[in-house]
Amino acid sequence: MDRQRLTLTTAIPYVNGPPHLGHALELVQTDVLARHRRLRGQQVRFQTGTDDNAFKNVAAARAAGQPIREFVDAHGDGFAALRDTLTLSYDDFIRTSSDPRHAPGVQRLWRQCAANGDFYQHRYEGLYCNGCEQFYAPGDVAESRCPEHAAPLHRVVEQNWFFRLSTYADELHRVIAEGEVAVVPATKRNEVLAFIKSGLADFSVSRPAGRSGGWGIGVPDDPSQVVYVWWDALTNYVTALGYGTDDGSAYRDWWVDADERVHVIGKGILRFHAVYWLALLLSAKHRCRRLSSSTTTSAWTVKNLPRARQGPSVRRTW
Ligand SMILES: [Zn+2]
Repeated sequence: MDRQRLTLTTAIPYVNGPPHLGHALELVQTDVLARHRRLRGQQVRFQTGTDDNAFKNVAAARAAGQPIREFVDAHGDGFAALRDTLTLSYDDFIRTSSDPRHAPGVQRLWRQCAANGDFYQHRYEGLYCNGCEQFYAPGDVAESRCPEHAAPLHRVVEQNWFFRLSTYADELHRVIAEGEVAVVPATKRNEVLAFIKSGLADFSVSRPAGRSGGWGIGVPDDPSQVVYVWWDALTNYVTALGYGTDDGSAYRDWWVDADERVHVIGKGILRFHAVYWLALLLSAKHRCRRLSSSTTTSAWTVKNLPRARQGPSVRRTW
């Protein structure tokens, strides 16, 4: 009998500063899971990396008076060095700004969602947290401060590409409620289901290239915009497998044909994984399938994600 195949990932941290204990905890917890599954005879592909393209990295480099490339590389080295310090057993480490596998996959996923008619341009005004790299609705925050960071929010007005998240509400609710995609533990699953039930707003998935000094991955066919860093970062889970490149073998083996795909994440980024990432995969016409389940102890886990489709590039249709 073929051995069960598990694809296991951590979230990829911003590199606006050196690693801290929280990063170490997530890496070690995921490493324990990887080793445990290997001991049980499963094939495991354990992946981590760094989220280099965030605007907050640009802001931190500016504050430090360093060129962004130099700054991101230096901090990225600090995260990569944790492999020895913590004796981690990961198989792959992807840096989103310099790994040649990454940008083609980000742009392919973008084009697939575009082909499905899920983008539109919209002038947006909102309260933005540089720390979270996300907009907050005025009703969600007190005194214009970020609920995560307590830092002041900045009013931003810009024209961006928006993703039609609202059209996926029913499907997202169904795949999670029926267990096609498991969110562990159950308290977090219920939290996600309640969030979806409360109504999903479309969200902005690009930023003006000028704001980041051009740092980031360009939106296909629109050089005035770079891909929103969360979209960019989430895609690492498949770009490290060669999704979007000419060699799709790892992607087939470790995503399409994997028995389980498990993302170990912190509770603060649950919605990005259990709602946004899942919606992007659904938009690109990826099918869900029921898979076996497992649990982790204290980290929140989103698992059993739908398979992505490794197809040819498609024309944009908007
Ligand atoms: Zn924040």
